[in-house]
Amino acid sequence: MLEVNDLNAWYGTSHILQGVSLEVRKGELVCLIGRNGAGKTTTVKSIAGLIPKAKGSVKFEGVELLGRPTHTRFSKGLAYVPEERRIVPGLTVRENIRLGLLASPLRRREADVIDEIAETFPRLKERLDQMAITMSGGEQQMLAIARAVASKPKMVLLDEPSEGIMPVLVDEMFEYFAALKRSGVTILLIEQNVGLALRIADRAYILDQGEIVYSGSAQTMLADEAIQERYCAV
Ligand code: ATP
Repeated sequence: MLEVNDLNAWYGTSHILQGVSLEVRKGELVCLIGRNGAGKTTTVKSIAGLIPKAKGSVKFEGVELLGRPTHTRFSKGLAYVPEERRIVPGLTVRENIRLGLLASPLRRREADVIDEIAETFPRLKERLDQMAITMSGGEQQMLAIARAVASKPKMVLLDEPSEGIMPVLVDEMFEYFAALKRSGVTILLIEQNVGLALRIADRAYILDQGEIVYSGSAQTMLADEAIQERYCAV
């Protein structure tokens, strides 16, 4: 579904991604892991069309995305939840979810979509008319995820969703990711909490200094403590 080939990316003259290739097949949950600064965020930002200086190929369902405007991803069903959440703090939870539907045909069924989301995310259901800014970091992250899935994307890119979130919410979030995968949504997940991520993933790639240094089944990687220690410690 997503094929990244020989992806190179730069910030100014710093050559950050040095020929990254990876693939996520339809229905898979693939994890991208690596130390701080390895280039994980730069990889998903490049896929999302947010790195101006990127070369190589990023194909989604066979269509080249690199060099095309960012919004083309949305219309093709590729959603992105950035590390920094980017919810609108001065709007309510309901209004934030509406924003996720603005450019979607589903906006005509807005009330149904919001009902569905409320059932899926009980924490948001209780807070639909609360200002987003008054919610905890974890709840805001849930909202960012809910907004991204409101338009029913085929694939979601998730950049460190559990960062800085209390463990009980992280568990809830991961249960949701597993359910999202079961519902047929394809997922590329960047995660520092490697053990947790590998338990729900099918496969994983390890990125180190802008290069993929390992790829394999999540089960194999989970059993390989040496490789986790070498490349995943922060
Ligand atoms: P983390 O786990 O800390 O989020 P990461 O694997 O996601 O790390 P990136 O954020 O992709 O890594 O960063 C890769 C490299 O690019 C790092 O050396 C970082 O300092 C550098 N970098 C990131 N953003 C910029 C920027 N806007 N300008 C210049 N250099 C940057």
